[in-house]
Amino acid sequence: MAKRKLQIPLSAILRRTQPNPPSPALAFASRIPHASTPFAPLTETSRNLLTYSSQLSWKSVLFRNHFASTTLNLRCWNCVVAAETAPFLFCHSCRSVQPVDQSIDYFHIFGLDIEYDIEAGSLEGKYKEWQKKLHPDLVHSKSQREKDYAAEQSARVIDAYRTLNNPLSRAIYMLKLKGLDVDEEQTISEPELLGEIMEIREAVEEAADSQALTEIQIQIQEKLKHWAKSFSNAIRHQDFEEAKISIQRMTYYDRVNKEIVKRL
Ligand SMILES: [Zn+2]
Repeated sequence: MAKRKLQIPLSAILRRTQPNPPSPALAFASRIPHASTPFAPLTETSRNLLTYSSQLSWKSVLFRNHFASTTLNLRCWNCVVAAETAPFLFCHSCRSVQPVDQSIDYFHIFGLDIEYDIEAGSLEGKYKEWQKKLHPDLVHSKSQREKDYAAEQSARVIDAYRTLNNPLSRAIYMLKLKGLDVDEEQTISEPELLGEIMEIREAVEEAADSQALTEIQIQIQEKLKHWAKSFSNAIRHQDFEEAKISIQRMTYYDRVNKEIVKRL
């Protein structure tokens, strides 16, 4: 390879053979800092909670008590009974679905602390539990208001599950909680990495059969694991620059992986 300094946007390389729209989880993650999603009725309580949240530092967000919201006198919109549990998505007294509260982060929905490393299978149980309580089909005979709440809560739980279940979108989400955006268009100027990118792309394009593709995929998944570990270390030490670098690498390998899956 010529020894000139290459300046190619990562996205240009990745999208050379096929356009790659952002995944729903990533697209969703990019909306997270905004409280004005279409399914987010902003009650007085949630406004207070948003203000409360925005005053927290990253460190305190990381280590805050997830049950703090119970101290803010949340009450069921239907029976006015005080919330006994957090997060308060569902009233155990009258079994009404509660309005979406954007101050409840995705980790909180699953009863987890805001930590990158989550145990395999730790989302599924809670996910099924929520869907049994919040699924829109369960409120078909209730008021339009509650039907709307169920549709919104259920959609948010699905988004939360998809975002946390994928190591890349989970990493991006953690930086979003900190108020940090990851620039996916950021230029890559490392010749070594660019060389690797070209090599992998060629190997994928020239793979003769599914076995060859699977072999490449195994290598890509190892790379993804490596950078996920790197992100985990970075975020633990609050090294946000290193965290962003890890996300950019994961973004690249994740796209290659998706391309391989399409060809398999
Ligand atoms: Zn109630």
